[in-house]
Amino acid sequence: MDQATKRELLDKDRQRVWHPFTQMKDYARQDHLLIEKAEGIFLYDADGNRYYDTVSSWWVNVHGHGHPRIKQAIIRQLEETDHIMFSGFTHRPGIELADKLLAIAPPGLGKTFYSDNGSTAVEVALKMSFQYWRHVGRPSKTKFAYLANSYHGDTLGAVSVGGVDLFHATFRPLLFDGYRLPSPLVGEWSGGRPTPEAAETSVAKALEAVKQLFETSAGEIAGLIVEPMIQAAGGMLMHPAAYIAGLRELCSRYDVHLIADEVAVGFGRTGTMFACEHAHVTPDLLCLSKGLTAGMMPLAATLCTDAIYEAFYDDYETQKTFFHGHSFTGNPLACAVALESLRIFEEEGVLDNVRAASDALRGHLPGLETFRHVANMRHLGLVAAFDLYADAASQTPYPPSERRGYQVYLEALKEGLILRPLGDTIYYWLPHCTTVAQLEDIVSRTSSVLERLGYR
Ligand code: PMP
Repeated sequence: MDQATKRELLDKDRQRVWHPFTQMKDYARQDHLLIEKAEGIFLYDADGNRYYDTVSSWWVNVHGHGHPRIKQAIIRQLEETDHIMFSGFTHRPGIELADKLLAIAPPGLGKTFYSDNGSTAVEVALKMSFQYWRHVGRPSKTKFAYLANSYHGDTLGAVSVGGVDLFHATFRPLLFDGYRLPSPLVGEWSGGRPTPEAAETSVAKALEAVKQLFETSAGEIAGLIVEPMIQAAGGMLMHPAAYIAGLRELCSRYDVHLIADEVAVGFGRTGTMFACEHAHVTPDLLCLSKGLTAGMMPLAATLCTDAIYEAFYDDYETQKTFFHGHSFTGNPLACAVALESLRIFEEEGVLDNVRAASDALRGHLPGLETFRHVANMRHLGLVAAFDLYADAASQTPYPPSERRGYQVYLEALKEGLILRPLGDTIYYWLPHCTTVAQLEDIVSRTSSVLERLGYR
């Protein structure tokens, strides 16, 4: 693209567009990257510069950008239908996808309810759970339990069960009350990995808090919502599978729905198709989006048990309808893409590649841990994260005003890397197509960035 066109577009962008999660004054000082082309793990800007998309375009991309089979799937579907409403009408891709999802999801889920983004997948789960308890004659079960540092989306229901004060505190007066539980392992790192004993104690402590809450209040709790294995936006906090298994056991014992928000971690990102598989757990409600369409189209699904569905199954007069739906619910193009993505998973050995890339990633992380200001290295599947500290041993943070994570982001761009930080937490959230050679290059570039910024 010529420089004049590029300048004109970027100026218009500044004048006319309001981007999400963007500090206005940063934007005034620093152009957004104007992306012209995306291919595999790479994005290319208007000047032809190439960047590793190490955050999979906000954690959605799976098979790499521009996968030819996905493109073909969109074209094929467009030749049949474009968007069709999904109430009173149905279509083959919507039916086949629901069937496929229920076949590969943890066993015991019976119905698929579509929406179009992660936040709405969560809204649907919360509303279904809430309404279910009314239908079964337990209307006092109206509240939700959620974890500190949890993130479930930006719509008001999802924010109500969000535990990241930076994002959520402003809206508190608008939100419904719930019970905030401690997240396991937070505070258990001390300049290194928690020992297995420390992790076990921390999980036991966190589960004890859940148990105590349920002892006193399960009668008013509809569901407990959790991001299984990785609390992502809250700082890439990872917990042992035993925690999820423990939650399942407590939710079953005290009659509380377990709502698994796998919007971010679903579809192979953690090394298994669904993160709940690490704990051999089936939730009552499972929220999916992002990787559902391999990150190519907006689509979401909330899967629920037959028991939940059956509580809504009645005649119109009983008013048990689930009054929830979006214009683009179950978009056929998106469903066709999701189906093709699931075929690619099966036919192209995608999970094998995830495991190979994950092993290679694990092998490279100790190199990054040699930096004096790097602490709390954690890793699962295609996700790895570490925190920058002024003093790693005592976990003394840098003053927030120094915006260390943001500085890393800016420097990494010069290195052809997109390292989008969460505060001073730097992370990778890699696409499944990442090769072992690309991984080595990504880690080596990250090292150069940290070196140049004086973290050695
Ligand atoms: N749940 C989780 C765990 C997420 O990470 C996100 C988005 N990052 C959401 C829900 C919300 O998804 P969306 O941005 O598509 O609304």
